[in-house]
Amino acid sequence: MKIKFYGGQEEVGRSCIMIISEQSKILLDAGIKVGDEDPYPKLPDAELKNIDGIFISHAHLDHCGYLPHIYSAGYDRKVFATQATMEILNVMINDYMRLSEPENVSKEGLRRLMRNYVVAEYMKTIKLKDLTIKFIPAGHILGSSLISVSDGKHTVLYTGDINLASTRLMEGADTRTLKADTLITESTYAGRDDKFPPENTIVKGMVDSVKETLMQNGSVIIPSFAVGRAQEVLLILDDYMNSGKIPKVPIYIDGMINKITRIHRHNILSCRKELQMKILVSEYDPFKSNNYKPVEKKQSRMKVIRDGEPKIIVTTSGMLSGGPVLEYLTHMARNPLNKLLMVGYQAKGTLGNELQNGAKEVEIDKKKVAIKLKVETFHLSAHADRPQLLNLLTKVKGLKNVFIVHGEKSKSEQFREDISKKYKATVPSIGSTHTL
Ligand SMILES: [Zn+2]
Ligand SMILES: [Zn+2]
Repeated sequence: MKIKFYGGQEEVGRSCIMIISEQSKILLDAGIKVGDEDPYPKLPDAELKNIDGIFISHAHLDHCGYLPHIYSAGYDRKVFATQATMEILNVMINDYMRLSEPENVSKEGLRRLMRNYVVAEYMKTIKLKDLTIKFIPAGHILGSSLISVSDGKHTVLYTGDINLASTRLMEGADTRTLKADTLITESTYAGRDDKFPPENTIVKGMVDSVKETLMQNGSVIIPSFAVGRAQEVLLILDDYMNSGKIPKVPIYIDGMINKITRIHRHNILSCRKELQMKILVSEYDPFKSNNYKPVEKKQSRMKVIRDGEPKIIVTTSGMLSGGPVLEYLTHMARNPLNKLLMVGYQAKGTLGNELQNGAKEVEIDKKKVAIKLKVETFHLSAHADRPQLLNLLTKVKGLKNVFIVHGEKSKSEQFREDISKKYKATVPSIGSTHTL
C-alpha cells in the first residue's frame, strides 16, 4: 500500500490524501483552503480518471470543497459519505458557490456530483475492488467520520478531524474497536501548549459573561461557525435560560445556522444519546425552543438591531470574514454595554483575530467602525487537544506508523518529536509518497 499526500500537510486546509493499493486508488477527502491565494490540493486533473472512489470524512470545506471541481473536471465515479455529511455538504457547497463563484466549476459538474453520492453507514464495511473501507464516528461535527481502509495486508486509519470528548451535541469519537498499523492523524491542537480546560469551566465562564451583559441592558453578539459550534452554543444558552441562570431574552439566529440546525434535528440519531433521550422522553425539543427567534429575512435584521432591547444574536461567520455578523457589529459596536463573544478559533488575518487582539477601530465594507463594545473569548473546541491525541494513539491496536497532518508545521513537528520513540512518526510534505 502507498499513501500520497496532495494537501493539508504542514497546514490546515485543502485536505486530500490518496491511498494506492495493488488494484485501486481512492481519495480520502477533497478539500480547499478557503480564502487562500493557493486554495486547491496539488492533485493533477489527469490523475482523476484513475481514481476508483472518493471518501469524505466530514462536511467542512477544507475536507470537501474540491468536489465540485473534481466532478467538473470529468471525474464520474462515486463519492461516499454519511447521510448527515451529504446534507450539510450540499448546503456548504451551495454557499461556497454563491460567495466565491469559482471558475473551475460547471453546472454539469455539480449535477454529476449529485448523481454520484453514496450513503456510508457507520461501522458497516464497504467493498471497493481489493479494499475494505469503514466509517467510524469521529465526534467532530454531525456526520463526521474516521475512515479505515484495508487491503488485507495493511490497514490505514484516517482521523479526518476528531474530537474524543463528548459535547452537548455530539458523542466523542468511537475508539472502542480501532485497529490499524498506520494512522493518519490531524494535529490542529497537537502543540506542546495545546491543553484545553474542561468544557464545564469554559461553559460556566461563557454563561456568566452573557448574564453580566444582559443584566446591564447590553446585547451579546456571538459569531459562530454554522455547523456544530452554533448548535452547541444554542443548546447551552437555551439550557441556562430555561433554568433561570441567564435572563430570558430573545436569542436571534441569523444566517446559514437555521438550515444547519434543521439538519441536526432530523439526523438526531447521529447526535449525542442524552440529547436523543431528552427529546424522546419529554415533550421538550431543544432544537425548536421558544427562546430561539430565527431571522429569516434581511429586512428583519434592522428591526432586531433597532429595537433597543437586550438580546443575544448567534450568527455567521465564525471569524467575521463575512455574513450577517458584520451588519450587527457595524450597528452595535459603538455601544460599550454590548459584548462580542467569540467561541471559536480566529485565524490570523481575519477581522475576528483583529478584534480579539483589542482593535479599537476596524474597517467593515470600506467604512471605519469604532469598537467600543467588549470583546471576550470562550473557546469551545470541536477538535482533540494534545492529551486527547496522545490518548488516541494508545487506542489503536497494532499501531506502528503515524503520519501527522492537518496542523501548523510547528505543532505537527512537536507532536512527531514527542511520539517518535514509540512509533515511526512522519510529518509528510505535500506531494510526497510513502510506501507501507
Ligand atoms: Zn472540520
Ligand atoms: Zn479540518
